[in-house]
Amino acid sequence: MQPLTDRWQQHLSNAISDPAQLIRLLDLPDSLVEPARRAAQQFPLRVPQPFIDRMVKGDINDPLLKQVLPLDAELEPVPGFTTDPLAEMQSNPHDGLIHKYQGRVLLITTGACAINCRYCFRRHFPYQDNKLGPEQWQAILDYIRADSSIHEVLFSGGDPLATPDRRILAMLEDLADIPHLSRVRFHTRLPVVIPQRITPELISALTATRLQAVMVLHANHPNEINQQLADALVPMQQARITVLNQAVLLKGINDEVATLRQLSEKLFAAGVLPYYLFVLDPVAGSAHFDISDSDAQTLIRELQSQLPGYLLPRLAREVPGKPSKTLLSLD
Ligand code: SF4
Repeated sequence: MQPLTDRWQQHLSNAISDPAQLIRLLDLPDSLVEPARRAAQQFPLRVPQPFIDRMVKGDINDPLLKQVLPLDAELEPVPGFTTDPLAEMQSNPHDGLIHKYQGRVLLITTGACAINCRYCFRRHFPYQDNKLGPEQWQAILDYIRADSSIHEVLFSGGDPLATPDRRILAMLEDLADIPHLSRVRFHTRLPVVIPQRITPELISALTATRLQAVMVLHANHPNEINQQLADALVPMQQARITVLNQAVLLKGINDEVATLRQLSEKLFAAGVLPYYLFVLDPVAGSAHFDISDSDAQTLIRELQSQLPGYLLPRLAREVPGKPSKTLLSLD
């Protein structure tokens, strides 16, 4: 049994939400507090201690800090940056369910996250209208049962691993009863932020099901990958669960070739394959992270010349209404 202080739920409930507390902990200037408080009124600060532990004290430009610290820049309206940049509300056949692509559906498993990433494309998502209670879950199961073209269910959110293991196990059991399903995929940042989230119970739930499980992590910078995360991922590899990573290209955080190369190399050393590198979705409040397509393409072309093909993530964006992600050409 893990000590209580090391359990993921404890880290989740102790996550820091007061900008002044974060700024004090990191020995940063007090002048950051007021802007952070203003921006946090729109989208709260949330960051747990194991992620803070990977930040460098006193460094206002720390790449992990910049992903979570609310700034005044978020409050400036920028043309083209909207509250629903992927038009997900148009593909929402049931509360808690998004059906955008052929063959797969996405569950808004929960609105909870371990960390609030300032660039998140769902930072304005109406989670309160998409609660996954027992009634909604039955309606979703009926929807999936009635459409035999659906083969894969994506657990998303929020962060699906903010859900207790016993609930995940029960959901997987219900889904496994639907014969035309073959895979489940979890899109999660939680194991990166709180590595203790990879529990023996989670591994058992993922291996007990007949459905093939895929885990897509979300790490943007090599400093996010520490030994604790690498160690936590070992049982995933032993259980032969495919683990991939998707990152978002963020100005001032990971928009350098050396950073992206190190990210791919550290991921692979931890048994994780780089999968996608997304350009920023134009969500209101995130424009200061934006990078032009041509700069993104230049970066990835240079990265391609330095890495073997299996370590090169696919540079992509999501375009509302398109039947799949759109890859950005490297030619
Ligand atoms: S963990 Fe994922 S869903 Fe949650 S805020 Fe970050 S990017 Fe958004």
